[in-house]
Amino acid sequence: MSVSGNPRQARRLSYTVWNEFRHEKTDEAVREIYPAGMHQAIAGYLSQQEGLSVRTATLDEPEQGLSEEVLAETDVLTWWGHVAHEEVRDEIVDRVQARILEGMGLIVLHSGHYSKIFKRMMGTSCSLKWREAAEKERLWVINPHHPITRGLGRYIELPHTEMYGEPFDIPTPDKVIFISWFEGGEVFRSGCTWTRGKGKIFYFCPGHETFPIYHNPEILKVIENAVRWANFAGNAKVDLEAANVQPLETIES
Ligand code: ZN
Repeated sequence: MSVSGNPRQARRLSYTVWNEFRHEKTDEAVREIYPAGMHQAIAGYLSQQEGLSVRTATLDEPEQGLSEEVLAETDVLTWWGHVAHEEVRDEIVDRVQARILEGMGLIVLHSGHYSKIFKRMMGTSCSLKWREAAEKERLWVINPHHPITRGLGRYIELPHTEMYGEPFDIPTPDKVIFISWFEGGEVFRSGCTWTRGKGKIFYFCPGHETFPIYHNPEILKVIENAVRWANFAGNAKVDLEAANVQPLETIES
């Protein structure tokens, strides 16, 4: 594919997969599914897709993996956390929030609904109902024209998942992309989008650590689609600069 002409096409989308990376070190069942960590399963797939430059970052790295330099170079960040949300330092959350408002995309996965950064960006408790019964989940594509659902059929079916159920205490999304039905009877808004400043945010429910969900090609496809959708290039033209402006019309007063 030609990359001449449009300079945006010449630059690869820079994507960072952030993972708390604790269950994989302490739980043998999780390590069997993700020997190198969930972040490597996601990065392994995304790094093979066209036009993406992929890096990983984890909680136990210096600056919790998210230095100013890493964030400055990141167009889209995905976030997976569960047992160590409180260990994420507030200065890192401030830093990530500032980058989102500048236009970095954020994709929050599964138990990341309780992460500091997601609660910060939503402004609500982000609480939900849950159950670990290895039940079936059917994610209905309710927005088939949205870029995040490109290439999918009417639904995605996962044979074994953790149930997340309504009410999900989030602000009303810009778009609901998926609604999940669970074998036990609950439903859940399992794919939702928001905008904050210039940044696009997507929450995507699947991903409990004891199921091989980030090896599922359809789930990985959704993450890939979401990364492309959340990329800054489309947001750069949004004018959110503070300015004292002259009136367009003559004001009679
Ligand atoms: Zn879970």
